[in-house]
Amino acid sequence: MDISAKIFIAGRNGMVGSSLEREFRKRGYENIIGLSSKELDLKNQSAVEEFFSGEKPEYVVLAAARVGGIMANIESPAEFLYENLAIQNNVIHYSYRYGVKKLLFLASSCIYPRLCPQPMKEEYLLNGKLEPTNEGYAIAKIAGLKMCQMYNKQYDTDFISVMPCNVYGIGDNFDPQKSHVVAGLIRKFHQAKQENKEFVEVWGTGNARRELMFSEDLADACIFLFESYSGNEFFNVGTGSDISIKELAYLIKKVVGFDGNIKFDTTKPDGMPQKLLDVSALKKAGWVYKTDLEEGIRKTYEWFLKLS
Ligand code: GDP
Repeated sequence: MDISAKIFIAGRNGMVGSSLEREFRKRGYENIIGLSSKELDLKNQSAVEEFFSGEKPEYVVLAAARVGGIMANIESPAEFLYENLAIQNNVIHYSYRYGVKKLLFLASSCIYPRLCPQPMKEEYLLNGKLEPTNEGYAIAKIAGLKMCQMYNKQYDTDFISVMPCNVYGIGDNFDPQKSHVVAGLIRKFHQAKQENKEFVEVWGTGNARRELMFSEDLADACIFLFESYSGNEFFNVGTGSDISIKELAYLIKKVVGFDGNIKFDTTKPDGMPQKLLDVSALKKAGWVYKTDLEEGIRKTYEWFLKLS
């Protein structure tokens, strides 16, 4: 890939998009474009076509998505389905129409069946029923990865997909109701510390297990594949190990420095019991993660402190 190539990061201002931009720039790529969702609504077909015809990007990374934690997904399944389908339909289709040389689509580990054997191999896709708490999002992401594969087959494009585990990091959404678990708990423990609260409420039983990766590592893996892989396989991206929500809550409590207790609110859902990816294909291709969970949480908390 030419260092001066024009790269469109769809979702440039989000957590993953901004990590991607930093990682591309570290490698010397400078011609990076992308607009905020206010400037360009990726759900709007004609606006997306106009953007592609005007800018003619050579490479596209599709990191734009409607994302949210377990409660946001439960509350707005139609929005998660519709908005993600619309964004990816437009960006993938016009990437094809305007001759984009390569596209990388970011999907998610929630595409795998709820009771999938662990760790989840790429070949287990569509082997069983999905987890109901994020079915809308998962259906959209499955459609996106199939779209990449089918466009490659029919139109000879070079569109690849990755399935990351749960991601957290700088630029995360810290909304206590809508965020994912790491950002949500950072905010809850921080507030409890400031207000000298006796305890923090953690959703679910604490027994659900999640594989968590720092967004900078995800960006690094995406660029690694972008530069080195073409074909119709998709890749799981993760650390290869997981942690229970209970252990995670104690780790975040320690990083934040909260002295009180933890209570588990079992009226809230656990979601998928376990979501551990088999990352052997990516490892074999030559990539492994760098940031250990505690270090990643520390960096995220430092960033959160600068914000507040
Ligand atoms: P999921 O992987 O789609 O379930 O995404 P989340 O990151 O939202 O949730 C992961 C797990 O953490 C679930 O079992 C949640 O019930 C649990 N959890 C515990 N406390 C929280 C919290 O404050 N926010 C969120 N989002 N999840 C929490």
